[in-house]
Amino acid sequence: MSPSRTHRVVIVGGAIVGSFCAWELRRAGHTGPITVVDKDMSYARSSTALSAASIRTQFGTPTCIAMSLQAVELFRDLSRQFGEDDADIGYVEAGYLILGRPDQLTERVSAAEMQQSHGADVAVLTPDELTARFPHLDFDGVGIGTFGLSGEGWFDAWGLLSLVKRAARRLGVEYVEASVTGFEIAGDAITSVRIGEGEPLPCDVCVLAAGAMSGRLAALAGIELPIVPKKRSVFNFQAPVPRDGFPMLFDSSGIWVRPEGDGFIGGIRPAPDDDHDADDDFEPHRDLFEDVYWPLLVQRIPAMDRLRLRRSWAGHYEVNLLDHNAVIGPHDRYGNLLFATGFSGHGVMHAPAAGRGIAELITAGRYATIDLTPLGWDRVRDGRPMVETIVY
Ligand SMILES: Cc1cc2nc3c(=O)[nH]c(=O)nc-3n(C[C@H](O)[C@H](O)[C@H](O)COP(=O)(O)OP(=O)(O)OC[C@H]3O[C@@H](n4cnc5c(N)ncnc54)[C@H](O)[C@@H]3O)c2cc1C
Repeated sequence: MSPSRTHRVVIVGGAIVGSFCAWELRRAGHTGPITVVDKDMSYARSSTALSAASIRTQFGTPTCIAMSLQAVELFRDLSRQFGEDDADIGYVEAGYLILGRPDQLTERVSAAEMQQSHGADVAVLTPDELTARFPHLDFDGVGIGTFGLSGEGWFDAWGLLSLVKRAARRLGVEYVEASVTGFEIAGDAITSVRIGEGEPLPCDVCVLAAGAMSGRLAALAGIELPIVPKKRSVFNFQAPVPRDGFPMLFDSSGIWVRPEGDGFIGGIRPAPDDDHDADDDFEPHRDLFEDVYWPLLVQRIPAMDRLRLRRSWAGHYEVNLLDHNAVIGPHDRYGNLLFATGFSGHGVMHAPAAGRGIAELITAGRYATIDLTPLGWDRVRDGRPMVETIVY
């Protein structure tokens, strides 16, 4: 695919990633038609709407750190970037506190040093420092904590989606509600995108941004993309625990918890033998809350003993089985098919950087802001994982 600002672009999936691709394309000066196709514009089952919408810079790879830092820059400057005076996504800048066991000390210190060297504002805390800073937590069995001093926190994913979609539409991006059912291929190019009802949509470039369904859609073009839907539950509860200064806690036990509104939200990954592909299953893991999550939470925060569960929901992570990292960039054979998917639970925070990268590839043929080449398709084809060590 040769770079151009006039290509007809069809984006499959119109939630956070697809919408950032569309908006960034226009910002990059793309004047050709851009059509975003989504089968459900209510987004009821999209990962974006069901996510915990938190952002961290504490990642295991420099690429992911750079992508988070780009999003933070955007979040701090929303009004100017989106041209709306009252642009607001409820961004709370508060650190992640990631706890490690004593045997993880060396590994966690070197991860923090790597993060710091790539611009992350991360502090390493000893158990005594942790107790002084977070008196409601019991740090028994903890050898180290790393804490984001700035550039981390949480926000309203729906608010961000609405903002970017409005901005994209203002710039002439067309949104179509239709289910993509296949691709028409001639030689080494995708020539159009088939939709359930109606004429196929011709394209010069097709961007696959269909979240957890991306693996299934790629298969329709004969491509084996190892991205599958995995169910993740979120529990929302009230508890007599002060929320002021409370971090986004990633515990060494595998649980996470953070303040949300007048209460808290949290969750835990199911055990591997209970972590099946989710398909249409959006029923939260209620037994996981009672049997696993709550007891572990109380061990770390004794006052959580008196929490009251208010509601729970489940959404799908778009898990890249190769390495829990996104796949961004062109397919090798079908060079006009660009992937922007497989974020494995960190796609809301990385959507701005992915969108910018895709826009740069289409309009200029190369990355200019962040080099996303390490996330390219080649590593999937060759089975070379870019392993993410901090996975929740
Ligand atoms: C419980 C939970 C917690 C999370 N927490 C965080 C977090 O704290 N921070 C973070 O950054 N990320 C988090 N994530 C991950 C994040 O939500 C996703 O990575 C991100 O939303 C991916 O965005 P997307 O646009 O690629 O996918 P989606 O939001 O899933 O959108 C894909 C779109 O494609 C459409 N689509 C699918 N198939 C078709 C088809 N055949 N035809 C047309 N359209 C189609 C769907 O309707 C959907 O709207 C979490 C996810 C979950 C489930």
